Amino acid sequence: MTQFSSTNPATGETVWEGPEASTAEIAAAVGRARAAFDDWADRPRQHRIDAVKRYQAALKARAEDLAETISRETGKARWETTAEAAIMQGKVDISIRAYDERTGERETATGFGRAVLRHRPHGVAAVLGPFNFPGHLPNGHIVPALLAGDTVVFKPSEEAPLTGQLMAECFAEADLPEGVVNVVQGGRDVGAALLDQPIDALMFTGSGAAGAHFRRKFADDPHVILALELGGNNPLVVWDAADAEAVAGIVVMSAFVTTGQRCSCARRLIVPEGTQGDRIIEAVQGLADQLFFGVWDSELEPFAGPLISARAADAARHALDQRVTAGARMLRSPVISDPISPAFTLPAIIDVTGVNVPDEEIFAPYLSVTRVPTFDDAIKVANATRYGLSAGLVSDNPRNWDRFIQRIRAGVVNFNRPTTGAAGDMPFGGLGASGNHRPSAYYAADYCAYPVASFEAPGVRDIRSEIKGLVT
Ligand code: NAD
Repeated sequence: MTQFSSTNPATGETVWEGPEASTAEIAAAVGRARAAFDDWADRPRQHRIDAVKRYQAALKARAEDLAETISRETGKARWETTAEAAIMQGKVDISIRAYDERTGERETATGFGRAVLRHRPHGVAAVLGPFNFPGHLPNGHIVPALLAGDTVVFKPSEEAPLTGQLMAECFAEADLPEGVVNVVQGGRDVGAALLDQPIDALMFTGSGAAGAHFRRKFADDPHVILALELGGNNPLVVWDAADAEAVAGIVVMSAFVTTGQRCSCARRLIVPEGTQGDRIIEAVQGLADQLFFGVWDSELEPFAGPLISARAADAARHALDQRVTAGARMLRSPVISDPISPAFTLPAIIDVTGVNVPDEEIFAPYLSVTRVPTFDDAIKVANATRYGLSAGLVSDNPRNWDRFIQRIRAGVVNFNRPTTGAAGDMPFGGLGASGNHRPSAYYAADYCAYPVASFEAPGVRDIRSEIKGLVT
């Protein structure tokens, strides 16, 4: 039995230790989910709503514990994990609304009777969670799946198994029928073994590389619904914006929040050539200097914590160094002389104007600046990515926004707000390598059930008179 553990990246403290699920245990979990499916799907809508409401109550009762656990496993600041625990509760009400609005039942009268639109659940959904919002993001798949009538096998991120365990305990407290929600713990191997089982849906939030792998893996299984929420190489354009300090606030919250570990973080800042661009970069540097990165529960409230691990910090710095070797100019170094732990990094800013850099997401607070001569060039550079998750424009000129919103290619496009701004009652998803056109958040309801169109007559009516070309 392979043991694994989660570690507080700020302190090195072991937070959770336990065995990875074996292949037999994974098969048993999928078997339980399969056995529970028909009954769960057949239950009245209100029954499933009551069940997720009980889960919501359990989340509420344990909100503080959940927030602290997420902080200890990921190193994220308490203000962020408190918000995450609250968002998980809010997801329940939003999902009930979304279920009714997007996938409920509708009927229209017809000459022969009625046309009815119904939605049916897919079956057993495998949910793989990422580390950066280890509660909120898998919760964002699981709750709508349960409402739709799917049953679930959830593998939490290997970086946050205790968070997954707490969620499992909340489901147990909600007294769901046996087998409706199952949790298997472990790393990628466990995830891979789960996907080798006969599942009906994969609801995945994670890296672009893993998402591409899943697309290939299920290429011959069109009956398996894939909902892939992946990474991005998100642009933030600043154009015709007079107040450089105000701009800096939006840039910092776009690029450095959560230590750059949000899929929607801005990775690329696109500014005008010349003094206008200089002033913006200077203001961003000045504000970045004031950000306090610390341990989640330190007395002085941190803006953010470390990266998820020392390994992640090494990989991010290596990617940054490669860009510098390729010709990028380091404007702000991420190196800390006396780090609390090796997982800590500072925000970095590099100038990549005229340098050919890889179109890859660096999951860290590292921002690449490109200076361009015209607004059209800015949009062109912003769109020069195979991803398309989030994008932003900061400008005093609404005409720039009119042009930007028409030209930019992304699923979340914000104006004078950070790229990280998102909401549960809106869709959240991306284009290109950022997903597969199955946005989550409010639209998660769509991939949790399939639509069925029915044309119904109340009795057997003679329609022979409607048949053309009958020879009598
Ligand atoms: P990851 O892809 O490494 O892992 C996510 C989950 O998938 C984990 O549970 C992991 O064990 C599992 N997994 C990974 N590869 C697998 C494989 N080959 N087979 C089976 N299971 C596998 O992602 P991460 O590092 O945990 O999260 C960060 C990534 O998630 C970033 O790229 C970020 O942009 C992305 N993300 C996207 C969104 C979104 O909504 N679009 C939101 C948050 C994070």
